[in-house]
Amino acid sequence: MQLISPEKIFRGNSAWLNALPHIKKISKFPLVLGRSSSTNNLRQKICKDLRDNDFNMYSSNLQFDCCYEDIERIKTLILQNNCDSIIATGGGKVLDAGKYLADSLSIPVITIPLSASTCACWTALSNIYSKDGQFIEDVELKSCPKILVLDHNFIKTAPKKTLASGIADALAKWYESSLTSSMVQDGLVQQAIQISRVLRDQLLIDGESAYECQAVQNASWCNVVEGCALTAGLIGGIGGKKCRTAAAHALHNGITQIISTEKPLHGEIVGVGILLQLKLEETKNNNKLANQSLKQLLVLMKKLNLPTTIAELGINVYENNNLQKIAEFTCRDKSEIHFLPFEVNKQDIVETILNFEKHKIKSS
Ligand SMILES: [Zn+2]
Repeated sequence: MQLISPEKIFRGNSAWLNALPHIKKISKFPLVLGRSSSTNNLRQKICKDLRDNDFNMYSSNLQFDCCYEDIERIKTLILQNNCDSIIATGGGKVLDAGKYLADSLSIPVITIPLSASTCACWTALSNIYSKDGQFIEDVELKSCPKILVLDHNFIKTAPKKTLASGIADALAKWYESSLTSSMVQDGLVQQAIQISRVLRDQLLIDGESAYECQAVQNASWCNVVEGCALTAGLIGGIGGKKCRTAAAHALHNGITQIISTEKPLHGEIVGVGILLQLKLEETKNNNKLANQSLKQLLVLMKKLNLPTTIAELGINVYENNNLQKIAEFTCRDKSEIHFLPFEVNKQDIVETILNFEKHKIKSS
């Protein structure tokens, strides 16, 4: 079975208002789930609109991350209040927690991303972390969200760095799937990889303009937002399990094991992961084009103020055995790193990161 897309998608400037009557058909007492104080005003507006439209509603926020502790606490609230749906409003962590909760309680979930930082609003997957943000596991869900609401007027209020992070995460679709799935015969998978290439090209062309001018009148911005939140999700939907993540996300998962006071965003870590993956391709797979791709990507990442080293993520790999910890988690048995078409071991990760960080320090 493949879970390709949310059942209904509303997008554009009035997406939220257009979606309201459809939400009403499936829910009378939603729980509105959020997290960050910076999106509090938007959540207040969403709650007010729900009340004005005769919904009974309850709201709650994640205290930490998309972690089992928060999930259990909120599950109790939903059961105590007899909520019949979850409206998850926020970034990837909130959306993933909302989807996981709805899945385990067999109630519908409505995802309302408040930034374009990931494609979590679309997918039938939840990434689970510890309270401190250390990656634990990916959980496959029974379905994609019932309704997805991508309201451009909500997204335009998000900090610029969330868009940059979304661009890096969406770019990873091409760099990872083209590597893991290029030999797959399945036509749908091949087409999904081609969409990820078209998406990469669009992000390379429009990314900077979108980042510089976050406005609904800017066509580049609209395209980039929809590419990061929707197209990236669609690629995972039609590509399915064979259109896999690889080293960039495996390195992300490893890097999250080190707690950084700077709390980098998902895509910011994935972006560094893509650069390291390209280095691995060059050294371990003798891919002569990898270095060229790396240089091309670095130009865009600099323009988007994205971190390009682990040091820039606020982590010193030279202290506390951090490098070993990253390499160990990245190469653990069930890691996506093993989907690469060439062998990679802990020592390769250690060497690649060391060379990379050293070289970057010299060149800066
Ligand atoms: Zn990702």
